[in-house]
Amino acid sequence: MTSETYAPLFGGIEGGGTKFVCAVGSGPDDIRAETRFPTTTPAETMERAVAFFKDQERVHGALVALGFGSFGPIDPRPGSPTFGHILLTPKAGWSHADVVGPLRSAFHVPIGFDLDVNAAALSEGRWGAGQNCDPLMYITIGTGIGAGLLVHGRLVHGLLHPEAGHLPLPHDRARDPFAGNCPFHGDCFEGLASGPAIEKRWGQKAETLPPEHPAWELEAEYIALALCSYIYTLSPQRIVLGGGVSQQPQVLQKVREKVPALLNRYIQSTAILERIEEYIVLPGLGNRAGVLGALALAEQAWRNQTLNG
Ligand code: ADP
Ligand code: ZN
Repeated sequence: MTSETYAPLFGGIEGGGTKFVCAVGSGPDDIRAETRFPTTTPAETMERAVAFFKDQERVHGALVALGFGSFGPIDPRPGSPTFGHILLTPKAGWSHADVVGPLRSAFHVPIGFDLDVNAAALSEGRWGAGQNCDPLMYITIGTGIGAGLLVHGRLVHGLLHPEAGHLPLPHDRARDPFAGNCPFHGDCFEGLASGPAIEKRWGQKAETLPPEHPAWELEAEYIALALCSYIYTLSPQRIVLGGGVSQQPQVLQKVREKVPALLNRYIQSTAILERIEEYIVLPGLGNRAGVLGALALAEQAWRNQTLNG
């Protein structure tokens, strides 16, 4: 028998606003099955996830824990009456949905539930670009902007969870008259720099703008300003930049130039002064960070139960 035979099997769900990805396995080198389907109603979507895991249990045996990295905002506090729920969200039909409930009814195993970006931070710290970095910050710049923070191997929660994507930023309206598209704050970081904000400002999809377009200078400026605030307040040992917008090579390059320039040698760390390419990096797990993060959440829930039980 190989050691793989003994590997405890986990189920992971990456729950996004447009699609769900579910996987069964124990880590990046051991994914036994995977599926994806569109996000429809909470009931239908969770039913499909449950059906997938039930099918997989018939093939691979029992799952020992489940993990769910969800779009937010959510309540990740175990013991809270609304634990496992999506909170007030613009996503139609999903406000106050209890998404962990259907999993709990169908599977009597520990369930790790957290924000999608927290899941990605966990997997990047465990298997990806953020190994041995403490704190590690993972930021996604896509449909929304969000960040997960891993400190001493634990995800930071608090009141609910950090919402670093909504950081207020200096906004020079003479240079950038776009008012911002955050429904709550207008011109916060997400309101100015998410994929939909770029699209609205320039009138075309971000991925169709050419590399030399002025959009990217402005985008990099906003990202760099936000990163400086995170560096000043949290002192992360590495920052992983995920999400579709970060895939633009000129964005990453400009952010790596602008961050040290804005910090102006005040943070006297060689990581920033000499090795910025290793400090601000793309996800090591690529677009797998989310679903692998869900497996990592499952593993964490399983370990916690073993320790506490
Ligand atoms: P999501 O945030 O929905 O999980 P993405 O991270 O791909 O998914 O974000 C989607 C947003 O990012 C869209 O606004 C899209 O226009 C933009 N986007 C996706 N890919 C790219 C790309 N390669 N370059 C620039 N923008 C992109
Ligand atoms: Zn906002």
